Amino acid sequence: NIHASSQKKACLDEWVAHYRSYATKGQTANYIPALRNKHLSQLGICILEPGGTMITSGDWEVPFTLQSISKVLSFIAACLGRGISYVLDRVDVEPTGDAFNSIIRLEMHKPGKPFNPMINAGAITIASLLPGESSPKKLEFLYELIESLLGKRPTINEEVFQSEWLTSHRNRALAHYLKETNYLESDVEEALEVYLKQCSIVVTTEDIALIGLILAQDGYHPIRQEQVLPKEVAKLAKALMLTCGMYNASGKFAAFVGVPAKSGVSGGIMALVPPSARREMPFQDGCGIGIYGPAIDEYGNSVTGGMLLKQMAQEWDLSIF
Ligand code: GLN
Repeated sequence: NIHASSQKKACLDEWVAHYRSYATKGQTANYIPALRNKHLSQLGICILEPGGTMITSGDWEVPFTLQSISKVLSFIAACLGRGISYVLDRVDVEPTGDAFNSIIRLEMHKPGKPFNPMINAGAITIASLLPGESSPKKLEFLYELIESLLGKRPTINEEVFQSEWLTSHRNRALAHYLKETNYLESDVEEALEVYLKQCSIVVTTEDIALIGLILAQDGYHPIRQEQVLPKEVAKLAKALMLTCGMYNASGKFAAFVGVPAKSGVSGGIMALVPPSARREMPFQDGCGIGIYGPAIDEYGNSVTGGMLLKQMAQEWDLSIF
């Protein structure tokens, strides 16, 4: 299969070179001071296949912070620690047509239950549900999950964390509202610390491609060769990624790319292709995909990363539909 992967790599190299020039159509996430001044035209990708094949292109080794991609992991951690029904009693699984940090519909959706774990209101609630009586204990639970997936302990970008901690007025407002309506189980500051630290976890495209691959395989870890997540939790996470993972561009993404994906404002996208008996070639056995391109659009999704993924989906018939 060496020939096939080198062909795929040649395609990726060509597309990465082409799409990085579109970075000027986006901006870095300027509302988080530490995310300003990133190299807009960086674009990198890592694809991992179940057999161990890794295909990379461009700036795939550049470290970046998880940001909202962490919402998938904290949701999984909360389900493992508290049980699915406990979590879903407190956070719904319905997409919104609103921005990821929107406050407006929280009060309209009586009695204030957050719509889904992929928007900030839902993710802050999920952070408060993690097992443990303090923010370090809650974070430890999440770090242990990440360590079991990646085989290494995650680290935090302190500068990004501090930068957001000091400027996160809207997230604080959301947390206070959720506290008033009793969805937040911990103190406001505690939930915010957990949420903003999980957003500051440092990864590369290879890390998120591996998590994507594990989800593609319904929780089976290809390197450890064991089931590391319950199938039911993996399926829920994928459904949330498909319906809510790209925020209020999730519909367009499902229509034109058609794979579960989760973005973050630092420019990361974690995507996956489930195995398919129907798909003739390439990636019949599925794959995990990690992308980094720091120029984001008005929805908070990587501009160049989204273009690259769309091209791949079209060329390689990746859509699950
Ligand atoms: N930390 C960011 C925030 O809360 C994450 C948002 C995102 O990646 N969309 O605003």
